[in-house]
Amino acid sequence: MKNKILLVCSLLIVNGSVSLAQVIKKPLVGAITTEDLKTDLYQMAGDHFNGREAGTLDELKVSMWLAKKAEAAGMVPAGDDGTFFQFFDLYRHQVTSNTNFKIGQKSYDLWKEVLVAETTNVKVDAPLVYLGIATKEQIEATDIKGKAVVILASQEGIANDISLFDRRYPGLVRTKYYDLLVKYGAAALIIVADSDAEKSWSQVEPQMTRGIYGIEGLRDKIGATMPVFWLHGDQLEFLKNTKEMLSTQVFSETYKYPSVNVVGKIEGTDPKLKNEYVLFSGHQDHDGVRQKYGQDSIYNGADDNASTCVAMLAIARAFKKQPGKRSALFVFHGSEERGLLGSRWYSAHPTVAESAIVAVLNGDMIGRNDINQAALLGSSSPHENSSDLVNIAKKANEEGPKFDLDKLWDKPEHPEYFFFRSDHLPYARKGIPSVFFTSVLHSQYHTPMDESENIDYLKLHKMTEWIYRTGWMLSNDPIRPKTLPNVKFER
Ligand SMILES: [Zn+2]
Repeated sequence: MKNKILLVCSLLIVNGSVSLAQVIKKPLVGAITTEDLKTDLYQMAGDHFNGREAGTLDELKVSMWLAKKAEAAGMVPAGDDGTFFQFFDLYRHQVTSNTNFKIGQKSYDLWKEVLVAETTNVKVDAPLVYLGIATKEQIEATDIKGKAVVILASQEGIANDISLFDRRYPGLVRTKYYDLLVKYGAAALIIVADSDAEKSWSQVEPQMTRGIYGIEGLRDKIGATMPVFWLHGDQLEFLKNTKEMLSTQVFSETYKYPSVNVVGKIEGTDPKLKNEYVLFSGHQDHDGVRQKYGQDSIYNGADDNASTCVAMLAIARAFKKQPGKRSALFVFHGSEERGLLGSRWYSAHPTVAESAIVAVLNGDMIGRNDINQAALLGSSSPHENSSDLVNIAKKANEEGPKFDLDKLWDKPEHPEYFFFRSDHLPYARKGIPSVFFTSVLHSQYHTPMDESENIDYLKLHKMTEWIYRTGWMLSNDPIRPKTLPNVKFER
């Protein structure tokens, strides 16, 4: 007997952790059912939760729903003070209605005639300088110090083959000029809408009026940064010819309100290893109620990211029926859509020791697109931070759903830079082995059409099985996945 144990041990040392996975108990895949996934998804992404926007009662309501579901799935609370909840303060900065904008005697109606694209507190009285579709060289050759620079928006130098281009275009135009103008001392940036930006106006207004969000230590204050304004295209001739001055004062207010991570666990069976955790990650929030598409204005976020939340509930049920050696920790993050704020908070204030988290398995949007394809982000350089973890996830794929794994979305040159857009990121930055499972973007991403009836439940089942099998191996493998040395992300 001793010899057999020795043999197993030496095999383990020779072949690493993957060989041992063959001697661990089989995962209980049959405990995950398409029916459960579908029932939970229709509930979580229903109109009654109004799109679960962070910092609203809707997010708090869905967090109550999740906690009840977590309890029913067999989880015990693992949030703060023996509850399923970890509350944190969301800092919101919002331009207020007493903000004013004038050129000469001409006053512009806030949000209708002028968009305020920078949340700031600043007063500017400055002459205008019109530079049109300015190049870097033109800006450098012009004395713009103390002036309000007027730019005509254009797609020049901007890649348009990205998701939600209409909604992102104004931000990309701003980015094209902002730092350069600040460097040369401009007092303000006024951008005149081209036809593309006119189409964007109703898309970006809800973002700009909502303002920006932070947590303690990250965007918790706003300063007197250079203001940015958008005016309609019909102002172009006037702005080219006027000798009048810009006179504006932008007021922004800052206030705090709660957002919440929902945290539960299924304890492991091994007396020692149960103090270590496989962290399953998803986000509970989405985008709330915004501009209409057709008659619908509720952004249900069925794929984004109720899909992963219901997968986590299903995985918890499987772990409850057959626990692993390590504990399974489930973190349903809040405020992901406001800038990964819940995961930034949890990774900085984990409710278990950070060193006890063996890996983070994050899912985001796992129920759409080709049923045979999926992506594993964080699986190739420079995003991979643990080859051990990636190998386990790939082995789990081979043993289970056998997806044809995408090779493009994890590349640093991919235009969506998708690796940087979900909740594994703050953990990966801390050096915790982390991967991101996804069925990637689709044409209904961040629209009211991301609804329960558009989910492919067989695909969702396959993705759930993949994440579960990966977590099962991690839970039972005596050896923890190691982090690669010298990992450096390109952003
Ligand atoms: Zn998401």
